[in-house]
Amino acid sequence: MAENGKKPTRVIAIANQKGGVGKTTTAINLATAMAATKKTVLLIDLDPQGNASTGLGIARDARDVNSYHVLIGEAGLAETTHDTEIPGLKIVPSGVDLSGAEIELVDMARREVRLSEALKPALGVYDYVLIDCPPSLNLLTLNALVAANSVLVPLQCEFFALEGISHLVKTIEAIRKGFNPTLELQGIVLTMFDKRNNLTEQVAADVREFFGEKVYKTVIPRNVRISEAPSYGKPVLIYDHKCAGSEAYIHLAAEVLKREISLSKGV
Ligand code: ADP
Ligand code: MG
Repeated sequence: MAENGKKPTRVIAIANQKGGVGKTTTAINLATAMAATKKTVLLIDLDPQGNASTGLGIARDARDVNSYHVLIGEAGLAETTHDTEIPGLKIVPSGVDLSGAEIELVDMARREVRLSEALKPALGVYDYVLIDCPPSLNLLTLNALVAANSVLVPLQCEFFALEGISHLVKTIEAIRKGFNPTLELQGIVLTMFDKRNNLTEQVAADVREFFGEKVYKTVIPRNVRISEAPSYGKPVLIYDHKCAGSEAYIHLAAEVLKREISLSKGV
């Protein structure tokens, strides 16, 4: 707790322009694991597909006012924030309206900083704000990167994984120069890891060689319980807290929290 009684909120964007690499799964389970350690967490669903909202059990008809309205300034954060069944974890859901936001934002003033400004009421209130980004480097993702202190990149170990990520790293550098000089790469988490697959091992080795310490020690295994959990509207950590996927996300959260403490101190 800071001297003024407010929390030094850290904002983490979970981004990778590729779809299906585990962004939403990581956002939901990292948020849940952080909340389990008594941190207060707000998850912003910034993907029009709304998978994070579904995965945390927010009904579609409860999403009429959502992150789209926050972005375009039609609603405040408080009125779009929902409780979840996990104590300490709240969510701003997305809605299909968000798919049109890209076009609407283009003509708006200060279009890249809208989320950053809209998140101000959360600063000092939550320990962590996590942003689940859409699978593209569009204006929604740029808004997330401008609002964030750090970026966490889930990476699936497949051919061309490094090429995809180098584009994201260039974008992070551009955001640093233009809008957000202190934006950091929190780290890269290898997801859907299948140790029986030689290509997976090879790609993982290449990513570790290239990004070194930035790659978390924890690897998220391919795990059927992880893929089942969303259809129950639950994080895997609640659905089956003992499975290998849950264990991995608990370890990842510990690594992320440790890094956030050193990043926030600038060391
Ligand atoms: P993204 O948000 O990057 O598009 P998701 O987190 O939605 O990716 O994951 C894509 C799909 O893969 C989802 O159906 C999800 O349940 C499944 N999935 C994600 N991580 C794992 C994993 N470690 N093991 C098995 N299935 C996974
Ligand atoms: Mg997603």
